[in-house]
Amino acid sequence: MNIKTNLQQIEESIPGGVSLIAVSKTHPPELILEAYQHGQRQFGENKVQELTAKVDVLPGDIEWHMIGHLQSNKVKYIAPFVSLIHGVDSYKLLKVIDKEAKKNHRIIKCLLQIHIAKESTKFGLSDDELHELLKSNEWKKLSNVQIIGLMGMATFTDNQCVIRTEFKSLKQLFEEVKDLYFQNDSGFREISMGMSDDYQIAIEEGSTMVRVGSAIFGER
Ligand SMILES: *Cc1c(COP(=O)(O)O)cnc(C)c1O
Repeated sequence: MNIKTNLQQIEESIPGGVSLIAVSKTHPPELILEAYQHGQRQFGENKVQELTAKVDVLPGDIEWHMIGHLQSNKVKYIAPFVSLIHGVDSYKLLKVIDKEAKKNHRIIKCLLQIHIAKESTKFGLSDDELHELLKSNEWKKLSNVQIIGLMGMATFTDNQCVIRTEFKSLKQLFEEVKDLYFQNDSGFREISMGMSDDYQIAIEEGSTMVRVGSAIFGER
């Protein structure tokens, strides 16, 4: 597995406005450092304990993205440093993040996770739940969180039509809620969608952030 070559190939295949989040879960710090030495600065992890252990031993200018399901009682461990939380799927969690961000004198950026896949195992808000959350305006009082976009994961399938349709629906939902609730907020502009097997489709459908693991670091 040549991390440098993989990174180069992926970087070349994504347009300028799209961020590459290198998903390093299950891989040791040495491999993360290798990617870092080739210029990669944004890394994604899905478990709080693994994330905090890695933060302790890796360079301080890495931007850490929490991409997995986050439990309220664990927010405090990542609040001091986390750069973006991708998987916010309830108002309750948003409120906890706000509280912990305040304690750390930070404003933490968040994405609301939307359930776009057919699988019931995946997390996320339905379209209706998203509207419900944003309509109430309660979230606007949370001054230490900033909602900067939406995140979604497509169904695990070889059927590219299904994947494309799901990404399209997320992009459409993004435009809809942007018009309704974020008219004067240019900060609301990220769509985190696309992984190793489907990031090209995701970019064609409007992704601004791809979360790529195995195509960089190899199979887990
Ligand atoms: C593991 C993971 C990824 C990366 O998956 P790959 O198929 O290895 O690229 C992306 N997003 C989330 C939420 C993940 O848990």
